Amino acid sequence: MREFTIYNSLSRKKEKFEPIHPGMVGLYVCGPTVYGDAHLGHARPGITYDVLVRLFRNLGYKVRYVRNITDVGHLENDADEGDDKIAKKAKLEQLEPMEIVQRYTNRYHDSMRLLNTLSPDIEPRASGHIIEQIALVKNIFDKGFAYESNGSVYFDVESYNRQYRYGVLSGRQLEDLQSNSRALDGQDDKKSSFDFALWKKASPEHIMKWPSPWSDGFPGWHLECSAMSAKYLGDEFDIHGGGMDLLFPHHECELAQNTASRGKSGVRYWMHNNMITINGQKMGKSLGNFITLDELFTGNHKMIIQPYSPMTIRFFILQAHYRSTLDFSNEALLASEKGLKKLLQASKDAAGLQVSETAGDAGVAQIVENIYEALCDDLNTPIAVSHVFDAVRIVNQVKDKQISICNEDKERLVFIFEELLSGVLGIQDEKSDDKSHEVLDGVVRMVLDMRTDAKKNKDFAKSDKIRDDLKALGIEIKDTKEGTEWNL
Ligand code: ZN
Repeated sequence: MREFTIYNSLSRKKEKFEPIHPGMVGLYVCGPTVYGDAHLGHARPGITYDVLVRLFRNLGYKVRYVRNITDVGHLENDADEGDDKIAKKAKLEQLEPMEIVQRYTNRYHDSMRLLNTLSPDIEPRASGHIIEQIALVKNIFDKGFAYESNGSVYFDVESYNRQYRYGVLSGRQLEDLQSNSRALDGQDDKKSSFDFALWKKASPEHIMKWPSPWSDGFPGWHLECSAMSAKYLGDEFDIHGGGMDLLFPHHECELAQNTASRGKSGVRYWMHNNMITINGQKMGKSLGNFITLDELFTGNHKMIIQPYSPMTIRFFILQAHYRSTLDFSNEALLASEKGLKKLLQASKDAAGLQVSETAGDAGVAQIVENIYEALCDDLNTPIAVSHVFDAVRIVNQVKDKQISICNEDKERLVFIFEELLSGVLGIQDEKSDDKSHEVLDGVVRMVLDMRTDAKKNKDFAKSDKIRDDLKALGIEIKDTKEGTEWNL
């Protein structure tokens, strides 16, 4: 098996990937809190971890990919105050919280499918794992790292820090946190402002609440991922992924909960994708530059000059390394759209290339190696893509009869486009797996052949009528050197 190198946010360096169980990978990724439409910020982790899973499978690993849905306990300010994000939206739309959860989970799935990401193998929901979470709170309580206060239970960061070290993942020191933290007013249930909730007592009007030994309430946000990752991947698993914005406090708290309850951090490699900025700015509702995926796909947003296909978005995201920030702009997306077209055209052409028995080594085997090397180097997709373009150049040179290739090299080219570009990077023609489009294409080709015959017979009235009738149906045709192209 090829060696894979992974940047570990915990050690802050690249490490050789060594799975706990040979040939198997356990991956847990923090999924969305489902209270609104999926946006550009969801696309990046969705695609990054999708490529990771596809690559591991291509390399021969068995992967168990777990990505959760947060449907309870994520409070507005990402800490322990404010409304529950889902409950607030439910109130606003006069719906049951679980209707909000279902609606936005469905939409999230739709967007992820359009972006050609594979479904996780297990997609657990926080609200479906209340029993496991209560058991975990009890465990942490019994170990002496939690305290109860007015029906809520908090993680005792100071007592944890006496035995272990709090802040190992984010590089924060408890002493710094202590000096920077605000003083608590007498109303607060917590001993320290950096303690975090394991269980929150619900107010009487709160809908999403469950009985527990401490109160009718709901779990703290960080708790679900500790409970569900252990349940589905075991006490120690290989990779925990998520966006950089989750590193602190979410993952730091998860790590502390794991260590407090099981004596070990539970995760070998922590992996974080960087953020997407928009014209150099952080994306945010208050900044007016918040773009949902639907708006990108339809072009229905004041900052977008045209619709961008899901595959263009996917390709755009893969053109940056996942640990770099990625800046969204119309120019960048237009460039991606153009590049994608070239890739897909070459991908189509590769299978039909003529081969020559006398042709020498065209360097395709080296390109295959280069692509693998880039992907196995901490998922360096931009370098991998640049090597796929080396293959595009060869396809075009063969097509233009500038060079000739042997059959082995042609097969390698097809492998690059089918197994690596489509299979691992997930870049493929958006229409290619749509059966109805295939049928439509066949029918349109038939009609176009009839038009060609009419033209040959100088029956221009008929050929024009076919063109106009197709246009009335929304099918535009264009005559080119290579034949007639059509577009919906
Ligand atoms: Zn999480």
